Amino acid sequence: CSAVKAISSSTSMSALPEVGELFEETGFYQSIRLFDEPPLFTKQSAFQRIEVVRSPYYGKVLVLDGVLQLTEKDANAYNEMMAHLPMFQHRSPQRVLVIGGGDGYVLSEVLKHESVLSVDHVDLDVEVIETCRKFFSWGDAWKDPRVTLHIADGAEFVRNAPTGYYDVIVQDSSDPWGWDESGNMVELPSKVLYAREHFENLHRILGQDGILNIQAETLQIPSDFAGATEWRQTLLDVGFSSSRYGSILISSYPTGQIGFLMSEKKPDLSTSPRDIQQRFAALKMVGKSTSYYHPRLQVGAFDLPYWAEQQMYGD
Ligand code: SAM
Repeated sequence: CSAVKAISSSTSMSALPEVGELFEETGFYQSIRLFDEPPLFTKQSAFQRIEVVRSPYYGKVLVLDGVLQLTEKDANAYNEMMAHLPMFQHRSPQRVLVIGGGDGYVLSEVLKHESVLSVDHVDLDVEVIETCRKFFSWGDAWKDPRVTLHIADGAEFVRNAPTGYYDVIVQDSSDPWGWDESGNMVELPSKVLYAREHFENLHRILGQDGILNIQAETLQIPSDFAGATEWRQTLLDVGFSSSRYGSILISSYPTGQIGFLMSEKKPDLSTSPRDIQQRFAALKMVGKSTSYYHPRLQVGAFDLPYWAEQQMYGD
């Protein structure tokens, strides 16, 4: 995750033969190296190179085009926050759309909410879904009868979706940009998911109290945070009444932090803190609790360092 130059290399480490192969994601700011024992899976799909590697600390790790997407150890942080923040913020989320998220984790968290009647899940790449079904424990989410899977471009799907239909939309996309071998910036398949036209369509297909949550990169890399600041402004320009940057701690992503933009059409219609507590307690009662998300983060996740607040919201 995050806009870094990513290189996935399975290089033999003769000094550490007992550990095995090496996966490396190298950024302009920092690198992450995970020992792999050896790569579990590699495939070039029509859209991206898919890899599953294993690290003694992080467990199984999904990598797309050399960029780490999630690890078994800390995927709970990102995926619970992406799903539960908007799901609890909405008073009664019944119709949900998940865009991207081919690993199925956001989908499995959304399905914990009993109010949900239907979830449309749209991802570009069926090969990511098949890989994650095989390698990750949350890969059963698509079996839930409330889920309809659409293999399509998210922007195209949203363009053709009915007006005012969804209560909550979660956009769990990979990075919109990356770098080629020569260090040139390249646009990736998810670029379309950050275009103004797509934001307009997302606003259109949400109901009057609809809530959108999109992956919004790290605040610790200046170009990423500048991108997030622009996206927020565009989300407001296309009609959302509020759009807030929330923060997640996650050690396997570059800089150890990732953000999201939660945007609401009518923030005054959102759930009260007391109702959120009650609904969270009800999830726990039926064994569907979370391990990172809890109701205090519904507010606390949006507390940013002072400089970041100033950059995102002005003085
Ligand atoms: N949590 C991860 C992160 O922040 O890096 C993202 C995980 S998820 C695996 C990203 C998904 O976005 C992939 O399954 C990919 O196929 C999907 N994707 C990329 N571009 C897309 C598009 N235009 N429409 C729908 N899905 C897209």
